[in-house]
Amino acid sequence: MSPRARDDTDTTPSVQGDREMQQGIMELMWRSSHVSGGNAHYVEALYEQYLDDSESVPDEWRSYFDQLPRPEGSATHDVPLSPIRDQFYQLGRENRPRVAAAAESGENKKQVKVLQLINAYRFRGHQKANIDPLGLRNPTPVPDLDLSFHQLSKADLDSEFQTGSFFLGIDKAPLRVIVDALERTYCRSIGCEIMHIVDTEEKRWLQRRFESVRSAPEFSDGVRKHVLERLTAAEGLENYLASKYPGTKRFGLEGGEAFVPMMDELIQRAGGYGTKEVVIGMAHRGRLNLLVNILGKNPTDLIDEFDGKKVIERGSGDVKYHQGFSSNVMSPGGEVHLAMSFNPSHLEIVAPVVEGSVRARQDRRNDEEGSKVLPINVHGDAAFAGQGVVMETFQMSQTRAYKTGGTVHIVINNQVGFTTSHPLDARSTEYCTDIAKMVQAPIFHVNGDDADAVLHATQVALDYRQEFKKDVVIDLVCYRRRGHNEADEPSGTQPMMYSKIKDHPSSRSLYAKRLVDQGVLSEEDAKAMIETYRDDLVAGNHVANALVQEPNTSLFVDWTPYLGHEWTGNADTTFDMKRLQQLAAKMCEVPDGIDVQRQVAKIYEDRRKMQAGGMGLNWGFAETLAYATLLDQGHPIRITGQDVGRGTFSHRHAVVHNQKDGSTYVPLQNMSDGQPRFTIHDSILSEEAVLAFEYGYSTTAPSGLVVWEAQFGDFFNGAQVVVDQFISSGETKWGRLCGLTMLLPHGYEGQGPEHSSARLERFLQMCAEHNMQVCVPTTPAQIYHLLRRQVIRPLRKPLVIMSPKSLLRHKEAVSSLEDLAHGKFHMVLSDQSDLAAEKVTRAILCAGKVYYDLAAWRAENERHDTAILRLEQLYPFPKEELLEALQAYTQLEDIVWCQEEPLNQGAWYSSQHHMRTVADMLKDGLGRELKFAGRPASAAPAAGYMSVHTEQQRQLVEDAFNL
Ligand code: AMP
Repeated sequence: MSPRARDDTDTTPSVQGDREMQQGIMELMWRSSHVSGGNAHYVEALYEQYLDDSESVPDEWRSYFDQLPRPEGSATHDVPLSPIRDQFYQLGRENRPRVAAAAESGENKKQVKVLQLINAYRFRGHQKANIDPLGLRNPTPVPDLDLSFHQLSKADLDSEFQTGSFFLGIDKAPLRVIVDALERTYCRSIGCEIMHIVDTEEKRWLQRRFESVRSAPEFSDGVRKHVLERLTAAEGLENYLASKYPGTKRFGLEGGEAFVPMMDELIQRAGGYGTKEVVIGMAHRGRLNLLVNILGKNPTDLIDEFDGKKVIERGSGDVKYHQGFSSNVMSPGGEVHLAMSFNPSHLEIVAPVVEGSVRARQDRRNDEEGSKVLPINVHGDAAFAGQGVVMETFQMSQTRAYKTGGTVHIVINNQVGFTTSHPLDARSTEYCTDIAKMVQAPIFHVNGDDADAVLHATQVALDYRQEFKKDVVIDLVCYRRRGHNEADEPSGTQPMMYSKIKDHPSSRSLYAKRLVDQGVLSEEDAKAMIETYRDDLVAGNHVANALVQEPNTSLFVDWTPYLGHEWTGNADTTFDMKRLQQLAAKMCEVPDGIDVQRQVAKIYEDRRKMQAGGMGLNWGFAETLAYATLLDQGHPIRITGQDVGRGTFSHRHAVVHNQKDGSTYVPLQNMSDGQPRFTIHDSILSEEAVLAFEYGYSTTAPSGLVVWEAQFGDFFNGAQVVVDQFISSGETKWGRLCGLTMLLPHGYEGQGPEHSSARLERFLQMCAEHNMQVCVPTTPAQIYHLLRRQVIRPLRKPLVIMSPKSLLRHKEAVSSLEDLAHGKFHMVLSDQSDLAAEKVTRAILCAGKVYYDLAAWRAENERHDTAILRLEQLYPFPKEELLEALQAYTQLEDIVWCQEEPLNQGAWYSSQHHMRTVADMLKDGLGRELKFAGRPASAAPAAGYMSVHTEQQRQLVEDAFNL
């Protein structure tokens, strides 16, 4: 525990009181049987443990230790002459407590107890709080909140005690006043979980925010009328849709209407802080309400969707509760752009997508702190507790590659998991939000029927995020009046809950009654709000507050240059030779004073030789030169993934580590003054959240190159949902373009089932409508032009690259600077040997590194009748290019597809029809059989034994020639 982490404010009343209090505690410890005498060592060990991790010791011990003052400037008590350690040793030696006379005083003991009581409320008050609007939550017994637990009694209620750091505005108060204030602060409509936060400053800040107003600030009448109006809007929309489309699925917000004023407040308050963009990841429940009442979607458009009218020109479209939306609203700080992400039914996966989109916007604005763009992620309770991607997203939240200055997480907690699940079945944790404690996020559980409390929790949450730039969670405890969706009958599985809900007044009516009772407005005014809202809906008027009709478009990225392009493989990826040489030289410079590790120094030395033309140019150099040239042309680049700084197979070394002090130097960040951003980060060990993040980033940042590299290719299957639901289908479902590049190491090198295949077949099976590009480059020049093509064309399509392993160092896999300066990406590489075309009777088609095995076998066996053609792009399938390459062979008798992958994998099943079509297109019209050479069908992608692998590889190569 760092000195900064120590919280000595929780209970310590005054400096001069410390010693007395400590003595009082020691005495109490002594009197409890297990502390006495010989157990002093046990106590000390426990105390050591507490210092390491205060949560790891039993509650009552933590409460004791929390009281102990610690020596100034020392993080642990393992310091000579530490008074506490001294105490422990005295306990052990003397077999009796070394307590001063003062500790015998009953008053002092009680004072300590009162401070413990205060602390207990801070720790556990939320368990007693009234956060469930239905009152169904089985309250956990919290003995720590009883006076008797602390050896206090009613007789003490009128005695005065110091209040320590508990914010009462006075130092001393009767116990009765203290308890009342504690009850009101911690046990009403907000259950506040903040004591797991280690940082003293943060914890104190949060305590002040709640304690100073007893968790219920006085809002002005104007503010409260506005809240009522927003609640009315939330309820009004659902009522309207329910009456117009009874039984139609819409995942209504009824029961959680307070979500709408909450979002309204978040956006307006963020705007007041100078936030320019808010990106929202939204659950199904309440989505339509948010779209119409907050983002300002025209109700008429929504009605059209309910009527089943087609709203997008191209593509499949998607159901209405997956739709995203963008608009601008006015706030006290000016116009704010709102973007709600499109998302699939896979509930939590949108959270990292939102984070990626936010980071892209922050990078565009050079907003390093994250104060200009705010992420809000809205979750369902069961999904928040159940889905692992939530943990991954929290884990990313403070890392260099992924931080976004803190996210406001809102859980719309309707207390039923997915369709029917009871909380006892949905999780093992007490709250659905417990996962957020891993990043020490404050968590506010708030009763959705108390709109004032919701407003307060919302304000504190946003202020905390702005102040500390960290994640915060609001758990909006509510219910769903109409079950999982409107087509469902909830009482079949939740009879008790639904019999309660049947008679439970709506949040709006409860709040309206409260305001009327308090004289804030008349009953007629409250009713008039309902009518005004309904009239606007019926008239098709916008019903969001402060919607800007003519949005300031500079607030968001202009996508028009990238829209409306048909797919093409052509792009001018050439680059001025002189400039290329300059960039190559610059990229090899490492400033004096950086002590480069021996093997890395050799790589840089070789690159200098390649730059000077004295050595064939290898993969790593060509790839990094692609980045250098793109940067030079003004395109920012972002690369993440496990080990990307170095490259899994040590070919990249884009980040140089100084052996003297561990500092790093990135040549590509130091190419020229004012160059675009080059970001390269080793990711956290995640595929799912990381790939989703990069998808979000690349769908928001069209001008640059965004690359995700898998450590081994098949690890992408930990992120399969991102490939299925976003990368392959996002454009056709939602019209959202994405230029993300995935580098997936692939190749059969005898490394076993899990390190050989990037499951090429999975991608090819998903390919249609030119949705993405799947390429298998085999030379340095090819990867260079492929990466450049991805950015130089205005087209934005996902690019999946089966990237090599052994080819990174293969002596044949080299190119020249000329190939880079003047070439292009060849979707088909025709045979480059000196075969006489008229003697060729067989063409082997292949992709990837097997080409080099085939070429070696041919040379060794002097087979002059067989041409080897490489398909460097498998989708979109390059029919014309392949046809052109095959036309050269007038005596062609057959065509063989050769792959390293087993028959049931690789490109065979997904691409053979393309190859057959081309074979049938050959001018002579003879039609040729297409043969297969590869590994036999197999459940595993590759053999686990090198000997089996080698034999299979030999056989498939031989088959390609001799079948
Ligand atoms: P946003 O800032 O995400 O709300 O985007 C603003 C506008 O840019 C959207 O309304 C779309 O018209 C357009 N846009 C945003 N992202 C994309 C994308 N990935 N592909 C195509 N158009 C986009």
